[in-house]
Amino acid sequence: MSKAVLIVDDSEMVRNFHAYILKTAGFEVISAVDGADALEKLYLNDIGLVLTDINMPKMDGYTLIEKIRADEEFEELPIIIISTEDEAKDKQRGFDAGADVYIVKPTDPAKLIENIKLLLEE
Ligand SMILES: [Mg+2]
Repeated sequence: MSKAVLIVDDSEMVRNFHAYILKTAGFEVISAVDGADALEKLYLNDIGLVLTDINMPKMDGYTLIEKIRADEEFEELPIIIISTEDEAKDKQRGFDAGADVYIVKPTDPAKLIENIKLLLEE
């Protein structure tokens, strides 16, 4: 895959863990520490998929997704939420914002890779 996956999480440990999983599966990875940082990197790089946390300082994941979807250039960009929040209302808010997939932490590496591959095949 030529396009990179943008990993967005305020936890360095989680960013590194997800980057390790994705790089091991052959994906190119770019990391961002919050929504604002992610938006900047989205416009500066060739991003094929966004994998984002919800709870982050400055700009949370819901706001990030709404801002991405507000730009028609990114209407079809695959977005996965990966969060510790596992209530139905959180998932609904994520889908309402425009996420394609919602995964609950702790991260299952095989499930994450499977979902990324499915979204990139579409
Ligand atoms: Mg967080």
